[in-house]
Amino acid sequence: MWPPRAAILPALLFSCLALGHAQESMMLPENSVTRVSEHVYAIVGFPNIGIVVGNRATLVIDTGLGARNGAIVVKQAEKLAKAPNLYLTTTHFHPEHAMGEQAFPPRTLIIRPAVQQDEMNQHATELMDLFRGFSAQSKELLADVKLRPPDIIFDKEIKLDLGGVTARLFWLGPAHTRGDELIFVVEDSVLIPGDIVQDKIVPNIPSDDASVKGWLAILDQLEPLKPRFVVPDHGALGDGSLIAKERAFLLDLETRSLELKRQGKSADEASVIVAAEFKTKYAGWQTMGPVSNVVKRVYAENP
Ligand SMILES: [Zn+2]
Repeated sequence: MWPPRAAILPALLFSCLALGHAQESMMLPENSVTRVSEHVYAIVGFPNIGIVVGNRATLVIDTGLGARNGAIVVKQAEKLAKAPNLYLTTTHFHPEHAMGEQAFPPRTLIIRPAVQQDEMNQHATELMDLFRGFSAQSKELLADVKLRPPDIIFDKEIKLDLGGVTARLFWLGPAHTRGDELIFVVEDSVLIPGDIVQDKIVPNIPSDDASVKGWLAILDQLEPLKPRFVVPDHGALGDGSLIAKERAFLLDLETRSLELKRQGKSADEASVIVAAEFKTKYAGWQTMGPVSNVVKRVYAENP
């Protein structure tokens, strides 16, 4: 059994909104694409969007926030595409990753893990309401969201032969959400890990559905892939070394929280201590705000 579902905590504000403000706008850039490898491109923005182009089909990873952003993604994907077949998948159900799908043409095949779809069915409305409260822009972008059922649902893994390039879409358990999906583009050795691997961004635990233990277990399984390139959901693009950096940070955070727990500190006390220590120890990382929810989750996972 998963822990009882809690309301999504304001922690989400730190990753999604802080990053949104850092971008100054929740609009993706138009006509702006970074070539990552032979078949993989990224639109760098809020969030980063992956586009994998094969001879037979194109795979888009994430939609942007609302239909206007979705349309920017579609336009870019169609410019790059070599064939009309189009797949769309989403790294998790949060609005800037999944709530622009209505802009995709009807021929698009939407694919996601069963767990992610289940989570979306339960929490999409709640998350959209939360995001609408962030700013006038996010309210407008999410004004008229229409979601449709996916065409393909998978349990743990599906392989897409896009023609000359293969994408593995897989689910390894809960981390940032219950339904985090990761994508590995085999021939190009590119990992698109959602929020699971990022560059100097504190892991975000937005609700009781998220899992620190699960997150660490996933990082252990990603390490042997040794990807040449990593395209995180948020922040700078990087290489395979980001996996070890993410793991070291999260493990350090878990270990220090457990130490303080053994010393009898409450989760709130430990949050303040760890945030202050890590601000110095990990200078250059984005805001330490999300640390407190990680600490609280570690306490809950280790009663
Ligand atoms: Zn998210």
